[in-house]
Amino acid sequence: MESKPAGLSQSETEGQVHDLLVIGGGPAGSSTAYWAAKAGLDVVFVEKKVFPRDKTCGDGLTPRAVHQLEAMGLGARLASTHRFEGLRTVAHGRTMELKWPDHPVFPSYGYVVKRSELDTFVAENAVSAGATLLAGTAATEPIMDGPLVLGTKLEDSVTAETREVRARFVVIADGANSRFGRSVGTTRNRAMPQGMAIRTYYESPRHDDPFIESALDFRDRSGNSLPGYGWIFPVGDGTINVGVGLLSTFRDWKQVNTSHLMTEFAHALPDYWEIDPENPTQAPTGGRLPMGGSVGPKSGANWLVVGDAAGSVNPFNGEGIDYAYETGRISADLIAEAIESRSRQPLERYRQILEADYGQYFKVARLFAKVIGRPALMRELTRVGMRSETLMDWVLRIMANLMDDDRTGGAEAVYRTAAALSRVIPEPSAKSDL
Ligand SMILES: Cc1cc2nc3c(=O)[nH]c(=O)nc-3n(C[C@H](O)[C@H](O)[C@H](O)COP(=O)(O)OP(=O)(O)OC[C@H]3O[C@@H](n4cnc5c(N)ncnc54)[C@H](O)[C@@H]3O)c2cc1C
Repeated sequence: MESKPAGLSQSETEGQVHDLLVIGGGPAGSSTAYWAAKAGLDVVFVEKKVFPRDKTCGDGLTPRAVHQLEAMGLGARLASTHRFEGLRTVAHGRTMELKWPDHPVFPSYGYVVKRSELDTFVAENAVSAGATLLAGTAATEPIMDGPLVLGTKLEDSVTAETREVRARFVVIADGANSRFGRSVGTTRNRAMPQGMAIRTYYESPRHDDPFIESALDFRDRSGNSLPGYGWIFPVGDGTINVGVGLLSTFRDWKQVNTSHLMTEFAHALPDYWEIDPENPTQAPTGGRLPMGGSVGPKSGANWLVVGDAAGSVNPFNGEGIDYAYETGRISADLIAEAIESRSRQPLERYRQILEADYGQYFKVARLFAKVIGRPALMRELTRVGMRSETLMDWVLRIMANLMDDDRTGGAEAVYRTAAALSRVIPEPSAKSDL
């Protein structure tokens, strides 16, 4: 994709007020742009990098994310990438292979796709639907009029040329650091958990393994237990994505050296992966995962916040791509309704919709994050879990948010009990109006 594939020239954008301006061309921004363009809106989305661009990630797409991609018409495109059937968990000397559950909505397969590839074809898809992508263009400063965001100042990432773009509505999808979001007033609730993760790639003959793998307890070369959990996601291109993540609920998390964790985890990988732990194909990189709906406010007079910029990552498993697609789609629908009805009122429902869709689940997940922040407790829980495949199947269904509202099965029953508990356990300093 070229730097401005379907971009407007300066003379075409100046003076024009678009229906929707989207800041960021990652999963959240591209999904917003796609669904809004599909609804007939005049959409511009700006991305400071030029596709294909790398993004630090595990590259794992679970059934929830696949469902959204298929809804955007990308099922055939995905089929050319590496498909997997489920999750292999390794802990306490035991291994279990858990297939994705049958579900009335979500497929029973996932994919691993490098973000340089995934984000490029999802952005291209939004352009094909009619959205205009300004790639290699950073949104540097919102143009405000009281509570309204009228647009943004732009800077060309190569030439440093500046200009402006204006729109009736703005969706902020600028990722975990969300500088644009902060400049219109969003903050992260520090009482809620945050994730931190690091990953790299290794060559492996098992690069096309049909299971992604997670290590729930691992040790360094001296036999000491390490915090966090590790993943091995086969990419299908000769490499595997290997990473480690941990939560801010872990007492000493600020002292944790993630590069050290990464090195030790690579050395602890089961032999069957046949990697050379000293030779990743690229230097490890890390990032933060704002989770559990921890960033707000989620909306303003004419703007909405989506994806990581809204703290949408699932605290149970660190997945954020699916929630980025989902929140993007919800925001596009509301803005299309607002344009249609010539009223900003539909935007007021955004927060309620997020609360209805994720509020309870994220609350349970935040409680869970507190529990697994205590390594000894986490070890005991995994030790018990790893003795029962049925129990681990339930855990997978809960953690990947693949429960079926109409079922009375084990996972659903366990989750309902946890949800009931979470309603009576207060979260002391958490703000409730995010
Ligand atoms: C190590 C690690 C592993 C992870 N593994 C997984 C995983 O396996 N599966 C999963 O589902 N999730 C995973 N996540 C989380 C996932 O990466 C994010 O949740 C997801 O990328 C969120 O999408 P987004 O569109 O909100 O943000 P991003 O993907 O960060 O996209 C934001 C985009 O906005 C652009 N941008 C930022 N500021 C500006 C600006 N001012 N102007 C223009 N453009 C701007 C950025 O360049 C970027 O392209 C992982 C995260 C980390 C750190």
